[in-house]
Amino acid sequence: MAPSAAGGVNPDLVRRRLRVTGTVQGVGFRPFVYRLAADLALSGWVGNDSLGVILEGEGPAPALDELARRLVDEAPPLARIDTLDVEALAATGETGFTVVDSRVAGAPAVAVPVDVATCADCERELFDPADRRFGYPFVNCTNCGPRYTIIRSIPYDRAATTMAGFAMCADCRREYEDPADRRFHAEPTCCPACGPQLSLVAPDGGLLAKAGDALDSAVELLGAGRILAVKGLGGYHLACDATDPAAVAELRRRKARDDKPFALMVDLPMARSLCYLSADAEEALTSPRRPIVLAPRRHEAPIATGVAPNLPELGLMLAYTPVHLQLLAGVARPLVMTSGNLSDEPIAHDDTDALVRLGPMVDAILTHDRGIHIRGDDSVVRAGTARVQMVRRSRGYAPEPIGLPTPARRHVLAVGAELKSTVAVAKGDNVVASHHIGDLEHLAAYRSFLQAVDHLCGLTGVTPEVVAHDLHPEYLSTKFAAELDLPAVGVQHHHAHIASCLVEHRWTEPVLGVAFDGLGMGTDGTAWGGELLVADLDGFRRVGHLLQVALPGGDRAAREPWRMAVAWLAATLGPEAAERYGRTVDDRWAAVLGLALRPDVLRTSSAGRLFDAVAALLGLRTRITYEAQAAIELEAAAAGQPLAGPGGYELDVVAGPEGLLLDPGPLLATVVAERDRGTPAGEISAGFHAGLGRGVAGAARRAAADNGLDTVALSGGVFQNARLTDVVVGALEAAGLRVLVHRLLPPNDGGVSVGQAAIAARCVD
Ligand code: ZN
Ligand code: ZN
Ligand code: FE
Repeated sequence: MAPSAAGGVNPDLVRRRLRVTGTVQGVGFRPFVYRLAADLALSGWVGNDSLGVILEGEGPAPALDELARRLVDEAPPLARIDTLDVEALAATGETGFTVVDSRVAGAPAVAVPVDVATCADCERELFDPADRRFGYPFVNCTNCGPRYTIIRSIPYDRAATTMAGFAMCADCRREYEDPADRRFHAEPTCCPACGPQLSLVAPDGGLLAKAGDALDSAVELLGAGRILAVKGLGGYHLACDATDPAAVAELRRRKARDDKPFALMVDLPMARSLCYLSADAEEALTSPRRPIVLAPRRHEAPIATGVAPNLPELGLMLAYTPVHLQLLAGVARPLVMTSGNLSDEPIAHDDTDALVRLGPMVDAILTHDRGIHIRGDDSVVRAGTARVQMVRRSRGYAPEPIGLPTPARRHVLAVGAELKSTVAVAKGDNVVASHHIGDLEHLAAYRSFLQAVDHLCGLTGVTPEVVAHDLHPEYLSTKFAAELDLPAVGVQHHHAHIASCLVEHRWTEPVLGVAFDGLGMGTDGTAWGGELLVADLDGFRRVGHLLQVALPGGDRAAREPWRMAVAWLAATLGPEAAERYGRTVDDRWAAVLGLALRPDVLRTSSAGRLFDAVAALLGLRTRITYEAQAAIELEAAAAGQPLAGPGGYELDVVAGPEGLLLDPGPLLATVVAERDRGTPAGEISAGFHAGLGRGVAGAARRAAADNGLDTVALSGGVFQNARLTDVVVGALEAAGLRVLVHRLLPPNDGGVSVGQAAIAARCVD
């Protein structure tokens, strides 16, 4: 301990400087420190700087030890501490503890906070007639409310958000400036006297009602089976009563959505009455990030069948804004809350755009005058039996940084793939992925992509020095990267998938990567998607793959799974088997078979397309209306079947010149034979999953042994399939291998940008 500089200082006092980095601004960290200091009778100060939060505390050494411990253990719910550094100083004899508003110029290193669901304290105020914010649908505090979606630029303070135009009233100002108040420096804080207001608008834009009347009318309309657009945190939803079959059918018609399931907004008792919820599922559902949780539905669930046709799961989320809480309390029934868009376009978040695009689809629009600066779709997680897995990482998660296994050598921009697009930047110790952007083939999504690139770079202070992109030359993201005047790193699609899995496990050693996916451009110009790779963040080698078959009709083969059934049968059981099947499904069978047999047609080793083929063979789905529908319904058909499945389903694995060849011929022969025998589709599906999963695990184990590896990483969109994942993980772990699966990032193409960024972050030239 340094000797005290001030003569009269009590020798039992020590002073320490603590520096905290991570997500520590905009999350109530300084008031939290203030209260801790008061609790421990410490003197000193706390402030923000460009690196995070910095504080000095003075008092007895045990109290300062306690401070450091409680800073981590009791951090506010939204805070994420990356590092805590402690430095000893000389005691000064300072008295009292103050919060200083220090903003240091320099490159921002502070993580931008995520949007957070209304906290319990605010919910209490919302429904408390004695509270001055009673019934006010924009109540928020330092622990909750809008963040990422309203931030225009950093540093994060009110002037840099879409709340800039709302001047705080005297009461709100007093709370905002009081370090002991739970709204101290809550940037979006407001009240009925000074904040945003609701309005209910007719489809033609005419005003129907304001404030409380707008809410009451909206509740009445929903209760009467009408369809509303509702402005939320990151965009507009389309809402209706989920128990009303006519309303749900009408919404499906207006939204031009054939089969894709609708998400539901519910309260916890409703959630429990609709689905079987594991402890993990409930934890995800009630977390302040409030994702949509996909969980097995109860047979008797009182929901219109049109909500999730042909699926054994429902997508549930709890209310996450005060408006949602009020609507749900008013209607008292589960509500459909689906993205406000036509079919697969990006979600509407701009008011003018929403009126144009959603007006024709709805009976009224419940909107408000707090702007949404950047869109934020609802995140989606899937609560399987063994784990909770990310499916779409957006609101509540983006743009939370993800730690890199090794620091980035340069600032990296990674532009992702094409479908389920996200972009990411890497800088220092972190990679930051954007919100969900969508399918870039839509012009509106491409515009959203351009905005996301600018916004993400701005918020993170990244000036890209290198751009990472997919190898597919036709992806709009690849074309965008080529137009930048920057060194470019082309990253093979499945290498990026495996790398994204390595990043979330902070893994730097080589692994045996199993990439089971839709389509991704391979280094040989064919479409990969069923790959065994020896990979780390610096490179990869293909050591095995699924048998390659023709993609008869290119893009159409993905939309019409029966084409893949023809191709797979032709390649494994012969043209006659393909003909026998083809005749039963489509009169274009002969042309498709002809294509399948031609040597010059684009070939693929895609596992996703194999699932399509089996779904078609079983008569479950010959044409799809949303991506991966056939594979999703094939897994759904097996619901309730034992994981081990019936016997007799075998994947053939043979060593060839290009490594291991995974040949599903015997598997398909059993599928066809059982189908002809009249075995139920669910049982065949279970057999297929079990046989394929065990076969893949066996091949991965063999390839790992051949290459001296003891760790297997699973990635690619096919691993959204919980049944397949459970079989593969079980078989690999039983064989003594370590298995890395996704948890934080989606296994699908939404995670590709992170993998690209991590790979490019380690490149030196
Ligand atoms: Zn709150
Ligand atoms: Zn106010
Ligand atoms: Fe992919």
